[in-house]
Amino acid sequence: MGTFTDKVAIITGASSGIGRATALGAAREGASIVVADMDAEGGNETVTLAKELGAESVFVHADVTDADSVDALVSEALDRFGALDLAFNNAGIAGAFGETHTYETDAWDAVIAVNLTGVFNCLKAELAVMRERGAGAVVNTASILGLVGFANTPAYTASKHGVVGLTQVAALENAGHGIRVNAVCPGFIETPMVMDGPLKARENPEALESIEDSTPAGRLGQPEEIAEAVLWLWSDRSSYMNGHALTVDGAYTAK
Ligand code: NAP
Repeated sequence: MGTFTDKVAIITGASSGIGRATALGAAREGASIVVADMDAEGGNETVTLAKELGAESVFVHADVTDADSVDALVSEALDRFGALDLAFNNAGIAGAFGETHTYETDAWDAVIAVNLTGVFNCLKAELAVMRERGAGAVVNTASILGLVGFANTPAYTASKHGVVGLTQVAALENAGHGIRVNAVCPGFIETPMVMDGPLKARENPEALESIEDSTPAGRLGQPEEIAEAVLWLWSDRSSYMNGHALTVDGAYTAK
């Protein structure tokens, strides 16, 4: 028996990076996995990898910025697996870099739509189902930038601070209904977002070195190191943890 045998999990942003690592970690622990993402190719790869680990898994094309798409995602999970026990609201984008006084409103809107409204859309649909059963565990992906500031990322930092606040609100509303809602706050993790996104750490050794130097651990984290925290927050081993923002950041925020 795995930790999540007979449990059904939705993971957004599961085609890549932290979401995929969490999907595969949950698959190893026996969960049935709904892989939700905009990227069908990566999503189907995650499904194949989860099935190789013995899990039931399905890809659902979902855009977290669109409430109807998220409602359809939750309906698909219920139709396919009959329940929803676990959710990881993880889809996110880095967005453009730039100082606040010159930041384009369109760039702001795009980041808030995915990183904050996306988490709200997911929470709304998932909690409605979980409240009916009086059970569930949800983890939202915030960031160290949900706790501290980082110059040139006004939208990203604001969106992730919003996710921490939203997590606390959802925990307060649901703690008396058998449901836990926590957030994970990763530091710099070696995923496409960091390696190929605006920081371009893969092709820019100076950018990579600067990230490593700013992290007391002296290295980037691995997606699996975030997945471990999510699996623990989902599990009954964290049964009294609710409304918490858990840093997994190589001591970045301890400075
Ligand atoms: P990633 O590898 O780029 O994965 C993010 C996934 O989310 C991608 O598959 C992406 O699809 C998908 N996505 C983007 N917009 C979406 C939408 N509207 N609806 C559904 N899916 C969407 O990045 P990651 O590093 O694993 O990031 C996962 C989460 O961790 C994000 O919330 C990020 O902000 C957070 N985080 C990451 C780090 C880090 O250092 N990597 C640190 C702190 C927090 P496309 O590829 O098609 O866009």
